Amino acid sequence: MIKNFGFDIILKHKVLTKTQKEYLENLPQKLLQKKVKVFKYDPHGKIIAQKIIQKIQRILPVKVHYMGSSALEISGMKDIDLFIFTNQIKDKYIKKINQILGFKPIKDKWRWKEDGFKITLKITNPNDQKRKEQILFFKILKRNPFLRKKYEEYKSFTNDKTYKEYLYTKMDFFSRVVKIFNKDNQRNFMYLKRIGVAINNSHIRLGPNLHTSQSFCTEKLFKHKKQTLYVTQKITHKYKKNNIHVVIGIVKNGDVLAHKIAQSLSIITNKKVLPISIKKDAKDNFFIKNKELQKLLHNKNILLVDDTIKTGKTFIKVIKSLEKYKAKIVGIAVICARNNIPVSISDTIKFYSFLTQDDYLFSYKKNKCPYCKIKTPLNKNFGFPK
Ligand SMILES: [Zn+2]
Repeated sequence: MIKNFGFDIILKHKVLTKTQKEYLENLPQKLLQKKVKVFKYDPHGKIIAQKIIQKIQRILPVKVHYMGSSALEISGMKDIDLFIFTNQIKDKYIKKINQILGFKPIKDKWRWKEDGFKITLKITNPNDQKRKEQILFFKILKRNPFLRKKYEEYKSFTNDKTYKEYLYTKMDFFSRVVKIFNKDNQRNFMYLKRIGVAINNSHIRLGPNLHTSQSFCTEKLFKHKKQTLYVTQKITHKYKKNNIHVVIGIVKNGDVLAHKIAQSLSIITNKKVLPISIKKDAKDNFFIKNKELQKLLHNKNILLVDDTIKTGKTFIKVIKSLEKYKAKIVGIAVICARNNIPVSISDTIKFYSFLTQDDYLFSYKKNKCPYCKIKTPLNKNFGFPK
């Protein structure tokens, strides 16, 4: 089973949504293989953009929105992205813009060049899902200078690489940001923040040489009975239709969680769901102690749980060690994902995390840490060592 699982492969790959993948697959190979040049931010782009905006707004009763890297004042491909948001595309607007610019659009898009800048003006519906996410992404980066810096840094890595690499990096960053700031994740984060279990915008030690701005603490959560129950029930509801027979928890926090989830699943599915603990031995291999329980796993549907997931390496090891018991892993659930793992990590395993805190986005090497730079004291309540 593990051979076709592809967990480690997926983790190494960038995180793209289905729509993003489809978009990439439909682009011509020739274009994808082209080398890209990432230019430093050039303030002249802003002047050009403002002139065009004024020209249109003087004649039409619309607001032209200026988005993209030039509007964020970061490195990019010398693109100027302008948008007119409307639910109904009005023919008279298109005619007027044609007059102003002196040429016609291709599929509601006007494209031209000025002083080496590639300008795109698009009339579009702000309520379609893709556009909503794009607007959200822009607003988040606009108000978050650290994230903006990170975005610029990652984009700059793709200078002189292929256009495919450039798009992958951009889209990966985009989907990570959208995942963190989506409504569900924000609501769950606020729920844990209120009781001091999760934190953001802080200065935290993540490892010997790594700092981060956000964190979560399982031990702190487990002290709050009501909130632990709420998180448990959220996880339970995600798997109530998956015919789970056994919940396996990784000792020790995952094990505590497994018992609570098994109990909760038993109640809502009205059948006995068994919790089982899995441990590491001295050689770093995972095992289930009880021989009777090992036999019980044969052909059973398993939900595997732990408090957090970082790279997924622990889960891969656990899955390998469970192979000999011929169990069927149908789900992996955690309270907090420290990385943006795709919602469905394989076709057969359903993944859920109550909270996502993406270390890729929010951590820094000590010597590059923006909080160290402005001499913010470390938050000793979170992180490593406690
Ligand atoms: Zn620091």
